[in-house]
Amino acid sequence: MIIVMRPHCAESELEGVTALIATLNMSAHVSKGAERTIVGVVGAANDKETLLAQFAGLDGVESVVPISKSFKLVSREAKAERSIVRVKAGVSFGGTTLAVCAGPCSVESREQLEATAEAVSRAGANILRGGAFKPRTSPYAFQGLGEDGLKFLRDAADRYGLAVVTEVLDVRDVELVSRYTDILQVGARNMQNFTLLREVGGARVPVLLKRGIAATIDEWLMAAEYVYVAGNHDIVLCERGIRSYDQQTRNLLDLSAVPVVQGLTHLPIIVDPSHGTGVRALVAPMSLAAVAGGADGLIIEVHPNPAAAFSDGPQSLTLPMFAELMARIEPVAKAVGRALPEAAAAAA
Ligand code: PEP
Ligand code: MN
Repeated sequence: MIIVMRPHCAESELEGVTALIATLNMSAHVSKGAERTIVGVVGAANDKETLLAQFAGLDGVESVVPISKSFKLVSREAKAERSIVRVKAGVSFGGTTLAVCAGPCSVESREQLEATAEAVSRAGANILRGGAFKPRTSPYAFQGLGEDGLKFLRDAADRYGLAVVTEVLDVRDVELVSRYTDILQVGARNMQNFTLLREVGGARVPVLLKRGIAATIDEWLMAAEYVYVAGNHDIVLCERGIRSYDQQTRNLLDLSAVPVVQGLTHLPIIVDPSHGTGVRALVAPMSLAAVAGGADGLIIEVHPNPAAAFSDGPQSLTLPMFAELMARIEPVAKAVGRALPEAAAAAA
Protein backbone atom coordinates (compact mmCIF):
# COMPACT_ATOMS: atom_id res chain seq x y z
CA MET A 1 0.00 0.00 0.00
CA ILE A 2 1.20 3.51 -0.82
CA ILE A 3 0.09 6.61 1.04
CA VAL A 4 0.56 9.79 -0.95
CA MET A 5 0.72 12.86 1.33
CA ARG A 6 -0.56 16.25 0.18
CA PRO A 7 2.19 18.53 -1.19
CA HIS A 8 4.03 20.27 1.68
CA CYS A 9 2.04 18.47 4.40
CA ALA A 10 2.85 19.22 8.03
CA GLU A 11 5.37 17.06 9.90
CA SER A 12 2.66 16.30 12.50
CA GLU A 13 0.39 14.92 9.75
CA LEU A 14 3.15 12.60 8.60
CA GLU A 15 3.69 11.51 12.20
CA GLY A 16 -0.02 10.71 12.46
CA VAL A 17 0.31 8.36 9.50
CA THR A 18 3.49 6.61 10.71
CA ALA A 19 2.04 6.25 14.21
CA LEU A 20 -1.02 4.41 12.86
CA ILE A 21 1.24 2.16 10.77
CA ALA A 22 3.26 1.29 13.90
CA THR A 23 0.08 0.59 15.90
CA LEU A 24 -1.00 -1.87 13.20
CA ASN A 25 2.38 -3.67 13.41
CA MET A 26 3.23 -2.73 9.83
CA SER A 27 6.40 -1.00 8.63
CA ALA A 28 6.61 2.43 7.02
CA HIS A 29 9.12 3.51 4.34
CA VAL A 30 8.99 7.26 4.15
CA SER A 31 10.25 8.83 0.92
CA LYS A 32 10.60 12.61 1.05
CA GLY A 33 10.94 14.07 -2.42
CA ALA A 34 11.36 17.71 -3.41
CA GLU A 35 7.61 18.20 -3.76
CA ARG A 36 5.78 15.50 -1.91
CA THR A 37 6.21 12.76 0.65
CA ILE A 38 5.15 9.22 -0.07
CA VAL A 39 4.86 6.46 2.51
CA GLY A 40 5.22 2.82 1.49
CA VAL A 41 3.46 0.48 3.89
CA VAL A 42 4.58 -3.13 4.17
CA GLY A 43 3.00 -5.87 6.26
CA ALA A 44 0.00 -8.18 6.40
CA ALA A 45 -3.46 -6.74 6.84
CA ASN A 46 -6.63 -8.77 7.39
CA ASP A 47 -9.18 -6.28 6.25
CA LYS A 48 -7.72 -4.22 3.39
CA GLU A 49 -10.85 -2.14 2.75
CA THR A 50 -11.09 -0.90 6.35
CA LEU A 51 -7.37 -0.22 6.38
CA LEU A 52 -7.50 1.87 3.20
CA ALA A 53 -10.40 3.91 4.54
CA GLN A 54 -8.63 4.38 7.88
CA PHE A 55 -5.54 5.92 6.22
CA ALA A 56 -7.54 7.91 3.67
CA GLY A 57 -9.29 9.66 6.57
CA LEU A 58 -6.10 10.94 8.20
CA ASP A 59 -5.08 14.61 7.98
CA GLY A 60 -2.58 15.41 5.23
CA VAL A 61 -3.32 12.26 3.20
CA GLU A 62 -4.07 12.88 -0.47
CA SER A 63 -4.61 9.30 -1.63
CA VAL A 64 -4.09 5.68 -0.63
CA VAL A 65 -3.17 3.18 -3.32
CA PRO A 66 -3.22 -0.58 -2.78
CA ILE A 67 -0.26 -2.12 -4.63
CA SER A 68 0.49 -5.79 -4.88
CA LYS A 69 3.72 -5.53 -6.92
CA SER A 70 7.16 -5.79 -5.31
CA PHE A 71 8.09 -2.38 -6.75
CA LYS A 72 5.62 0.14 -5.46
CA LEU A 73 6.63 3.80 -5.55
CA VAL A 74 7.98 3.57 -9.10
CA SER A 75 4.94 1.63 -10.38
CA ARG A 76 2.23 3.10 -12.57
CA GLU A 77 -0.23 2.04 -9.92
CA ALA A 78 1.34 4.60 -7.59
CA LYS A 79 1.38 7.27 -10.31
CA ALA A 80 -0.50 6.81 -13.57
CA GLU A 81 0.95 9.76 -15.48
CA ARG A 82 4.50 9.57 -16.80
CA SER A 83 7.15 11.41 -14.79
CA ILE A 84 9.30 14.05 -16.41
CA VAL A 85 12.81 14.30 -14.96
CA ARG A 86 13.95 17.90 -15.30
CA VAL A 87 17.69 18.41 -15.30
CA LYS A 88 18.02 22.08 -16.23
CA ALA A 89 16.52 24.52 -18.74
CA GLY A 90 16.23 22.71 -22.07
CA VAL A 91 17.20 19.30 -20.65
CA SER A 92 14.59 16.85 -19.44
CA PHE A 93 13.65 13.21 -19.84
CA GLY A 94 10.10 12.07 -20.53
CA GLY A 95 8.42 15.03 -22.22
CA THR A 96 7.87 15.52 -25.91
CA THR A 97 11.51 16.55 -26.41
CA LEU A 98 14.02 13.70 -26.51
CA ALA A 99 17.16 13.75 -24.39
CA VAL A 100 20.33 12.98 -26.34
CA CYS A 101 23.50 12.17 -24.41
CA ALA A 102 26.67 11.83 -26.48
CA GLY A 103 30.38 11.65 -25.79
CA PRO A 104 33.26 9.28 -25.29
CA CYS A 105 33.22 6.13 -23.20
CA SER A 106 36.13 7.46 -21.10
CA VAL A 107 37.28 11.01 -20.49
CA GLU A 108 40.84 10.95 -21.83
CA SER A 109 41.97 14.58 -22.07
CA ARG A 110 40.74 18.17 -22.08
CA GLU A 111 41.26 18.37 -25.87
CA GLN A 112 39.25 15.20 -26.51
CA LEU A 113 36.33 16.56 -24.49
CA GLU A 114 36.43 20.03 -26.07
CA ALA A 115 36.39 18.60 -29.61
CA THR A 116 33.59 16.18 -28.76
CA ALA A 117 31.42 18.72 -26.90
CA GLU A 118 31.72 21.20 -29.75
CA ALA A 119 30.71 18.64 -32.38
CA VAL A 120 27.89 16.89 -30.48
CA SER A 121 26.28 20.16 -29.39
CA ARG A 122 26.39 21.40 -32.99
CA ALA A 123 24.75 18.14 -34.08
CA GLY A 124 21.93 18.67 -31.56
CA ALA A 125 22.83 16.62 -28.45
CA ASN A 126 21.98 18.27 -25.13
CA ILE A 127 23.97 16.16 -22.66
CA LEU A 128 27.69 15.34 -22.67
CA ARG A 129 28.63 11.85 -21.49
CA GLY A 130 32.02 10.47 -20.47
CA GLY A 131 33.38 8.29 -17.68
CA ALA A 132 35.93 9.64 -15.21
CA PHE A 133 35.59 6.55 -13.00
CA LYS A 134 35.48 3.49 -15.23
CA PRO A 135 34.17 0.04 -14.30
CA ARG A 136 36.63 -2.15 -16.23
CA THR A 137 36.55 -5.93 -16.46
CA SER A 138 40.33 -6.05 -16.09
CA PRO A 139 42.08 -4.28 -13.21
CA TYR A 140 44.92 -3.48 -15.64
CA ALA A 141 42.68 -1.60 -18.09
CA PHE A 142 42.39 2.22 -17.98
CA GLN A 143 40.44 3.13 -14.83
CA GLY A 144 39.65 6.78 -15.64
CA LEU A 145 41.09 10.20 -14.80
CA GLY A 146 39.05 10.69 -11.62
CA GLU A 147 38.47 14.27 -10.49
CA ASP A 148 40.57 15.75 -13.35
CA GLY A 149 38.22 13.98 -15.75
CA LEU A 150 35.19 15.47 -14.00
CA LYS A 151 36.69 18.95 -14.41
CA PHE A 152 37.31 18.43 -18.14
CA LEU A 153 33.73 17.24 -18.57
CA ARG A 154 32.20 20.15 -16.66
CA ASP A 155 34.30 22.78 -18.46
CA ALA A 156 33.60 21.42 -21.94
CA ALA A 157 29.88 20.98 -21.23
CA ASP A 158 29.54 24.52 -19.87
CA ARG A 159 31.32 26.00 -22.86
CA TYR A 160 28.79 24.43 -25.24
CA GLY A 161 25.62 24.67 -23.12
CA LEU A 162 25.40 20.95 -22.42
CA ALA A 163 24.42 19.09 -19.25
CA VAL A 164 26.74 16.34 -17.95
CA VAL A 165 26.12 12.66 -17.21
CA THR A 166 28.91 10.60 -15.69
CA GLU A 167 29.21 7.37 -13.75
CA VAL A 168 29.72 7.10 -10.02
CA LEU A 169 31.26 3.77 -9.05
CA ASP A 170 31.68 4.05 -5.33
CA VAL A 171 29.60 5.33 -2.42
CA ARG A 172 32.65 7.32 -1.29
CA ASP A 173 32.54 9.37 -4.51
CA VAL A 174 28.86 10.31 -4.66
CA GLU A 175 29.41 13.71 -3.08
CA LEU A 176 32.46 14.48 -5.27
CA VAL A 177 30.82 13.41 -8.55
CA SER A 178 27.59 15.27 -7.65
CA ARG A 179 29.60 18.50 -7.41
CA TYR A 180 30.55 18.29 -11.09
CA THR A 181 27.71 16.45 -12.82
CA ASP A 182 24.03 17.11 -13.58
CA ILE A 183 23.13 13.40 -13.69
CA LEU A 184 24.71 10.53 -11.75
CA GLN A 185 25.04 7.36 -13.81
CA VAL A 186 24.80 4.04 -11.99
CA GLY A 187 26.36 1.51 -14.36
CA ALA A 188 25.13 -1.94 -15.35
CA ARG A 189 27.64 -3.65 -13.05
CA ASN A 190 26.35 -1.70 -10.06
CA MET A 191 22.63 -2.00 -10.68
CA GLN A 192 22.28 -4.22 -7.62
CA ASN A 193 24.85 -2.45 -5.47
CA PHE A 194 22.23 -1.64 -2.87
CA THR A 195 24.51 0.53 -0.75
CA LEU A 196 25.29 2.70 -3.79
CA LEU A 197 21.61 2.84 -4.74
CA ARG A 198 20.73 4.12 -1.26
CA GLU A 199 23.55 6.67 -1.41
CA VAL A 200 22.50 8.14 -4.78
CA GLY A 201 18.97 8.08 -3.38
CA GLY A 202 20.18 10.69 -0.92
CA ALA A 203 21.78 12.89 -3.63
CA ARG A 204 20.00 15.94 -5.02
CA VAL A 205 21.05 15.10 -8.58
CA PRO A 206 18.98 12.97 -10.99
CA VAL A 207 20.10 9.35 -11.45
CA LEU A 208 20.53 7.42 -14.71
CA LEU A 209 20.08 3.77 -13.73
CA LYS A 210 21.38 1.31 -16.30
CA ARG A 211 19.93 -2.17 -16.58
CA GLY A 212 22.20 -4.86 -15.10
CA ILE A 213 24.06 -7.16 -17.46
CA ALA A 214 21.74 -10.08 -16.62
CA ALA A 215 18.93 -8.30 -14.83
CA THR A 216 15.25 -9.00 -15.33
CA ILE A 217 13.00 -5.98 -15.72
CA ASP A 218 11.52 -6.63 -12.26
CA GLU A 219 15.00 -6.63 -10.68
CA TRP A 220 15.80 -3.40 -12.48
CA LEU A 221 12.63 -1.72 -11.25
CA MET A 222 13.36 -2.94 -7.71
CA ALA A 223 16.76 -1.24 -8.00
CA ALA A 224 14.97 1.97 -9.03
CA GLU A 225 12.68 1.50 -6.02
CA TYR A 226 15.76 1.58 -3.74
CA VAL A 227 16.73 4.99 -5.12
CA TYR A 228 13.16 6.30 -4.98
CA VAL A 229 12.44 5.17 -1.45
CA ALA A 230 15.71 6.79 -0.33
CA GLY A 231 14.24 10.13 -1.43
CA ASN A 232 15.53 10.73 -4.94
CA HIS A 233 12.54 10.66 -7.29
CA ASP A 234 14.43 11.88 -10.35
CA ILE A 235 15.33 8.54 -11.91
CA VAL A 236 15.83 7.73 -15.58
CA LEU A 237 16.15 4.09 -16.66
CA CYS A 238 18.56 3.04 -19.40
CA GLU A 239 18.29 -0.15 -21.46
CA ARG A 240 21.87 -1.05 -22.45
CA GLY A 241 21.59 -4.67 -23.58
CA ILE A 242 21.71 -7.91 -21.66
CA ARG A 243 24.07 -10.86 -21.86
CA SER A 244 23.12 -13.50 -24.43
CA TYR A 245 24.65 -16.57 -26.07
CA ASP A 246 25.13 -14.87 -29.43
CA GLN A 247 28.62 -13.71 -30.31
CA GLN A 248 27.68 -11.37 -33.18
CA THR A 249 26.93 -8.52 -30.81
CA ARG A 250 28.43 -7.58 -27.44
CA ASN A 251 25.03 -7.67 -25.74
CA LEU A 252 21.45 -8.28 -26.82
CA LEU A 253 19.70 -4.90 -26.96
CA ASP A 254 16.24 -5.49 -25.54
CA LEU A 255 14.15 -2.85 -27.30
CA SER A 256 10.95 -4.52 -26.11
CA ALA A 257 12.00 -3.39 -22.63
CA VAL A 258 11.00 0.17 -23.61
CA PRO A 259 7.24 -0.43 -23.95
CA VAL A 260 7.29 -3.10 -21.21
CA VAL A 261 8.90 -0.69 -18.74
CA GLN A 262 6.56 2.13 -19.79
CA GLY A 263 3.63 -0.10 -18.92
CA LEU A 264 5.02 -0.87 -15.48
CA THR A 265 6.57 2.37 -14.26
CA HIS A 266 6.04 6.10 -14.56
CA LEU A 267 9.82 6.69 -14.85
CA PRO A 268 11.33 7.72 -18.20
CA ILE A 269 13.51 5.28 -20.14
CA ILE A 270 16.32 5.86 -22.63
CA VAL A 271 18.36 3.45 -24.78
CA ASP A 272 22.11 2.92 -25.10
CA PRO A 273 22.67 1.36 -28.54
CA SER A 274 26.48 1.58 -28.11
CA HIS A 275 26.85 -0.89 -25.22
CA GLY A 276 23.67 -2.59 -26.40
CA THR A 277 25.36 -3.81 -29.57
CA GLY A 278 29.10 -3.14 -29.20
CA VAL A 279 29.24 -2.62 -32.98
CA ARG A 280 29.58 0.84 -34.54
CA ALA A 281 27.55 -0.07 -37.65
CA LEU A 282 24.60 -1.14 -35.50
CA VAL A 283 24.37 2.06 -33.46
CA ALA A 284 22.42 4.06 -36.08
CA PRO A 285 19.75 1.43 -36.90
CA MET A 286 19.18 0.68 -33.19
CA SER A 287 18.98 4.41 -32.35
CA LEU A 288 16.28 4.89 -34.98
CA ALA A 289 14.42 1.81 -33.76
CA ALA A 290 14.62 2.98 -30.12
CA VAL A 291 13.13 6.38 -30.97
CA ALA A 292 10.45 4.79 -33.16
CA GLY A 293 9.61 2.45 -30.28
CA GLY A 294 8.97 5.30 -27.85
CA ALA A 295 12.24 5.71 -25.94
CA ASP A 296 12.58 9.05 -24.13
CA GLY A 297 16.14 9.52 -25.32
CA LEU A 298 19.46 8.00 -26.28
CA ILE A 299 22.97 7.75 -24.88
CA ILE A 300 25.57 7.26 -27.60
CA GLU A 301 29.36 6.85 -27.50
CA VAL A 302 31.12 9.31 -29.80
CA HIS A 303 34.88 9.84 -30.13
CA PRO A 304 37.01 12.18 -32.30
CA ASN A 305 39.26 9.22 -33.17
CA PRO A 306 37.66 5.89 -32.20
CA ALA A 307 40.71 3.90 -33.31
CA ALA A 308 42.74 5.58 -30.55
CA ALA A 309 40.03 5.45 -27.84
CA PHE A 310 41.12 4.21 -24.39
CA SER A 311 37.90 2.17 -24.15
CA ASP A 312 35.02 1.04 -26.36
CA GLY A 313 36.51 2.35 -29.65
CA PRO A 314 34.79 -0.36 -31.78
CA GLN A 315 31.33 0.85 -30.74
CA SER A 316 32.06 4.59 -30.84
CA LEU A 317 30.78 6.79 -33.65
CA THR A 318 33.04 9.38 -35.24
CA LEU A 319 31.94 13.02 -34.93
CA PRO A 320 30.58 13.19 -38.53
CA MET A 321 28.78 9.85 -38.10
CA PHE A 322 27.00 11.26 -35.04
CA ALA A 323 25.90 14.38 -36.91
CA GLU A 324 24.59 12.25 -39.76
CA LEU A 325 22.68 10.04 -37.31
CA MET A 326 21.03 13.05 -35.63
CA ALA A 327 19.77 14.23 -39.02
CA ARG A 328 18.25 10.78 -39.61
CA ILE A 329 16.64 10.67 -36.16
CA GLU A 330 14.75 13.91 -36.64
CA PRO A 331 12.01 12.64 -39.04
CA VAL A 332 11.62 9.42 -37.04
CA ALA A 333 11.15 11.42 -33.82
CA LYS A 334 8.62 13.64 -35.57
CA ALA A 335 6.68 10.62 -36.82
CA VAL A 336 6.15 9.47 -33.21
CA GLY A 337 5.31 12.92 -31.85
CA ARG A 338 8.74 13.72 -30.42
CA ALA A 339 11.33 16.38 -31.18
CA LEU A 340 15.10 16.58 -30.93
CA PRO A 341 16.49 18.87 -28.20
CA GLU A 342 16.65 22.60 -28.92
CA ALA A 343 20.14 23.28 -30.27
CA ALA A 344 22.27 23.40 -27.13
CA ALA A 345 24.95 25.41 -28.89
CA ALA A 346 22.44 28.15 -29.63
CA ALA A 347 21.49 28.34 -25.97
CA ALA A 348 25.12 28.58 -24.78
C1 PEP B 1 29.43 3.31 -19.95
O1 PEP B 1 28.40 4.00 -20.07
O2 PEP B 1 30.53 3.64 -20.43
C2 PEP B 1 29.33 2.00 -19.26
C3 PEP B 1 30.36 1.46 -18.66
O3 PEP B 1 28.08 1.48 -19.35
P1 PEP B 1 27.48 0.11 -18.76
O4 PEP B 1 27.46 0.26 -17.27
O5 PEP B 1 26.14 0.04 -19.38
O6 PEP B 1 28.39 -1.02 -19.20
MN1 MN C 1 31.65 2.45 -22.66
